[in-house]
Amino acid sequence: MRADLHLHSTASDGTDSPTDLIHIVARAGLKGAALMDHDTLSGIDDARQASDDLAIAFIPGTELSVDHESADGSRVKIHMLSYGIEPGNGPLQNKLEWLREGRDERNPKIIEKLQELGYNISMDDVLEQAGGTAVGRPHIADALVAKGRFTDRNEAFDGLLNDGGAAYVERRRLTATQAIELSSASGGVTVIAHPTTMGIHGDPFIEVLDELRLAGLVGIEAHHPLHDLALREQLSGIAGDMSLIATGGSDYHGTGKRGYSVGTGTGDLRIPEFAFERIQQAIDDVRRDLLPAVNCELRILFPMFLYNIDHIAIAVQDLDAALAEYERKYKITPISVETLPDQGVREAMIAIGGSHVQLLEPLDPGSAVGRFLERNGEGLHHIAFAVVDIEEALEHLESEGARLIDAEPRIGGGGHRIAFVHPQDLTGTLIELVEVNDG
Ligand SMILES: [Zn+2]
Ligand SMILES: [Zn+2]
Repeated sequence: MRADLHLHSTASDGTDSPTDLIHIVARAGLKGAALMDHDTLSGIDDARQASDDLAIAFIPGTELSVDHESADGSRVKIHMLSYGIEPGNGPLQNKLEWLREGRDERNPKIIEKLQELGYNISMDDVLEQAGGTAVGRPHIADALVAKGRFTDRNEAFDGLLNDGGAAYVERRRLTATQAIELSSASGGVTVIAHPTTMGIHGDPFIEVLDELRLAGLVGIEAHHPLHDLALREQLSGIAGDMSLIATGGSDYHGTGKRGYSVGTGTGDLRIPEFAFERIQQAIDDVRRDLLPAVNCELRILFPMFLYNIDHIAIAVQDLDAALAEYERKYKITPISVETLPDQGVREAMIAIGGSHVQLLEPLDPGSAVGRFLERNGEGLHHIAFAVVDIEEALEHLESEGARLIDAEPRIGGGGHRIAFVHPQDLTGTLIELVEVNDG
């Protein structure tokens, strides 16, 4: 799918509104877009709405400026693209506000320095240039351009506003590892933006990549207008060798960065066709791992109500004997063993990866599991699907004519709400639904 994974709008320092931006994406013939405004998610809702209207696949996100200190003590500044971050509250979302406060503190200091240097510029001049919530150096540059002091943003940055420039002021930053961890805790994944601006190459670059990959980094933006063709190829190779995703994006800012076009950058950009899908897949993986642990907006993350296999249940004649075999042959012991008189079983739960195997021993031969054993012998008894909202799941199944054993949920092991669907409903398999939602 043709997509652009690095776009800016007026929510930060781009010059097109989020809605207009998505129209530009559609006109460029692309099928996917990721909005990556600096330190803000305020453009996401509009961009998503426009994407829905125009049948563009959309990934929400933000671009962060972070610091990384290597094992050898050297420091490097990195732009990080954090994909899959939804507006609202969350671990990274709440930090974005702190970062924007940092910008708000910093802007007056930069203006003070500029005034000392003889530039006639005020905060009002800057606010006039900014359309969104994240006001920063690009808008200060725009104000200087508007005053005729420079011809474009780049010229204003060069030696003045850039890192080490005469009017440069240090700002609040997350470390790279914090950014990665906060992103995954928020259901997102991180990619290093335009790696060339890190200013390191060869072994030191590979070492930083390796450190960040261990922290959870999923990709590098190999295809960016700042990279020449040889560098793009080299970075793609490095990504492949390190099992990272080679992504790409135009870093389009409207007239904020002249000559950069959506989808094609400065003309020769070829964003890999599978980058969008692979990033989406990585986001889905992170969110799936996250679900049982956190109380987040599950419905936004998983429009489908079913998201995991909670457990696979096996009927056994002798629970203790079966557990001893599991321990001897697979080196695993149960996390719980319970007697449930209501259900006529003694059960053990064995945790494997993100799921469980449940062993069921009937308390008496006349119980449901007892009769099952008599008919079928030991073996697969049922599969339990984890659902976000059990009522919604039952309602949907009923509307599809499923043969429900429990039309209403009841309380099962661990206090979770459960319901069973008859084995004759689908492929001879007894299905249990378990609501696993701590929210
Ligand atoms: Zn950047
Ligand atoms: Zn950018």
